[in-house]
Amino acid sequence: MKKLATSVGVLLLAVIVIAVAGQRQIGSFLVDRMVKARVGADPIAALPDGLHVQICGSGSPLPDPGRAGPCLYVVAGDQTFVVDAGSASARTMMGQQLPLGRLNGVFLTHFHSDHIDGLGELMLQRWAQGNKTSPLPVYGPQGVEQVVFGLNAAYRLDAGYRTAHHGADIMPPSGNGGVPVIFSLSENSTTEVFNSGELTVTAAPVNHSPVKPAVAYRFDYKGRSIVISGDANPNSGLEVFAAGADILFHEALNREMVATIEVAAKAANLPNLSKIMFDIQDYHTSPEEAARIAEAAGAKALVLYHIVPALPVNYLKATFLGDAKDHFSGDLTIAEDGMLFSLPVE
Ligand SMILES: [Zn+2]
Ligand SMILES: [Zn+2]
Repeated sequence: MKKLATSVGVLLLAVIVIAVAGQRQIGSFLVDRMVKARVGADPIAALPDGLHVQICGSGSPLPDPGRAGPCLYVVAGDQTFVVDAGSASARTMMGQQLPLGRLNGVFLTHFHSDHIDGLGELMLQRWAQGNKTSPLPVYGPQGVEQVVFGLNAAYRLDAGYRTAHHGADIMPPSGNGGVPVIFSLSENSTTEVFNSGELTVTAAPVNHSPVKPAVAYRFDYKGRSIVISGDANPNSGLEVFAAGADILFHEALNREMVATIEVAAKAANLPNLSKIMFDIQDYHTSPEEAARIAEAAGAKALVLYHIVPALPVNYLKATFLGDAKDHFSGDLTIAEDGMLFSLPVE
């Protein structure tokens, strides 16, 4: 009997050893396959000539595990840009294999923290991937210089370590960080802020009071066009700025859902949270209002991003949208991180 128990024990041990060794072998095989598939992959290279937008952050300051802070990766022909770089957006872009090393620039809509939280990391990754000898241009209205110079200063020690460790050929000191490109805005008109090849980028002031300046951007490339609202209340004139756009990317906040948080915070004796949830309701746009704006603009599609509050489960989407679909005759989508919107040149 004792002999049998010993044999069973040895057999069990052998099975465990084989199972563990097998797991390690399977794991090694998977690492090898995954690394070979991912390193050097470039999803942008396969895109046809046109205007394309990949969502690298559909979220807002309210935590949502599936959504990085606001970030849109824009491809126009062979040029690439990022509009806003919210929290976790840089690593979201890296996870999406988006090439950061050859970014042509970043456009900031305004300087609320949720739109710049990922910018330091983005500038670092672009430098690390790109072997650049000049800093990343960061376009924005007055104030962009404070943001960029501040982040450059915060990352200066790190930059020194990187060059010392990897060498100046890989991480040239001159390519570190960003360089602000300030454009001036006139109160009631649009401003062309970038022009290269057949791409024109135009900015328009939007109403995100008391935050000033705040702008929306329009990208026009070979007859295709997108408009990105940034943060804006519904009285921002985007019906005109987005006229005829192929896609309007508009921020969206559901006031009833936010008011529910406001009331719950008050009941839980959290006056700060309650006051903030009250305050944010009037400087954003509801899904229904965004739908009306897109309809008035004659936009072909509407994509809602900067989603407030978080939508951790899918069945909240219908509640979030409310009657929005009744007010817009085109395609209406709630953005998810990783979605790609493609507008090939016709
Ligand atoms: Zn925001
Ligand atoms: Zn804002």
